[in-house]
Amino acid sequence: LRILGIETSCDETAASVVVRHADGRGEILSDVVLSQLEEHSAFGGVVPEIAARAHVEALDGLIEEALERADVSLAEIDAVAATSGPGLIGGLLVGLMTGKAIARAAGKPLYAVNHLEGHALTARLTDGLPFPYLMLLVSGGHTQLVLVNGVGEYERWGTTIDDALGEAFDKTAKLLGLPYPGGPAVERTALHGDADRFKLPRPLVGEARLDFSFSGLKTAVRQAATDIAPLDDQDVADICASFQKAISGTLKDRIGRGLARFRDQFSGLDTEPALVVAGGVAANQEIRRTLQALCLEYGFRFVAPPMRLCTDNAAMIAWAGLERMAAELPADPLDVQPRSRWPLDSNAQTLLGSGK
Ligand code: ATP
Ligand code: MG
Ligand code: FE
Repeated sequence: LRILGIETSCDETAASVVVRHADGRGEILSDVVLSQLEEHSAFGGVVPEIAARAHVEALDGLIEEALERADVSLAEIDAVAATSGPGLIGGLLVGLMTGKAIARAAGKPLYAVNHLEGHALTARLTDGLPFPYLMLLVSGGHTQLVLVNGVGEYERWGTTIDDALGEAFDKTAKLLGLPYPGGPAVERTALHGDADRFKLPRPLVGEARLDFSFSGLKTAVRQAATDIAPLDDQDVADICASFQKAISGTLKDRIGRGLARFRDQFSGLDTEPALVVAGGVAANQEIRRTLQALCLEYGFRFVAPPMRLCTDNAAMIAWAGLERMAAELPADPLDVQPRSRWPLDSNAQTLLGSGK
């Protein structure tokens, strides 16, 4: 089975052709991603209107390039998969309408894919991971711990009650005068900082629920910075290092509880329990080390797909479509609508129905 995938939910325009071989193995034939980082950097964040226009300009060319690189024609693909939520509605409209048009013109089924489902299933494309497993998604827009039980079977165990983790990095960078996107800048700056200089809060640590909260951390950073202003380079480095340490401490507690819960729930499992990370924040080395150590402690396999597939891409959308085809789940009607909000555990395989 061969499928064309389209992703336009945020600030990456992407197209990809992925094949699923008879033995279930996935293979990426092409994977083209155009990041809009430069268009948005002057604004210190993604501007929805600019994003939507940039998708319009780039998408057709990227789809052609993806087909060319894969060396397949539209006639040779079996289906089209397009992200239809959650995300910025303007971008979603561009990608989903393009997907519909291609599906209609080429007479192929259309799969309207939940972006989060793409992240959730990537580890099966890269590592052939068996169900069930836990997935931690940490990006600019999401922070979720999800039980992945099967295709279309997801349970959200925890989510952020305020800022996403990447957002916390971006906002902290901004208030320290570091460049956008904040994650890489904070990580670099933290390398020569003293992580013990500032005692920053670790919200929700110790609580039984598996949710996250990061806005208090950002507020505490602002307070610390105000208290010692004007900041010199060492001050900024110390704040960044302390910030990352607080995040590692928080994740250790939150994710540790999740791993323990998974172990309890699936004690009879004959495969090794696994934790998968996804999202741009997964690039952070300190966070990776923390998760790795945690997995070692709890007897979990730690799966980190290559960074290119951890951040937004269309190969994961294509793969999610292939998984649905392989599971013989229905395609979507051509009047399917994009949804800016679309929790993964509500009615994930079809956009019809109420959803929460
Ligand atoms: P989504 O819609 O999936 O949330 P997104 O574009 O917001 O998409 P990604 O592209 O997956 O998210 O990741 C971008 C985020 O990752 C930004 O918030 C960025 O600051 C953060 N990030 C990138 N590199 C690092 C790093 N080394 N350390 C911490 N955060 C990082
Ligand atoms: Mg992005
Ligand atoms: Fe994403």
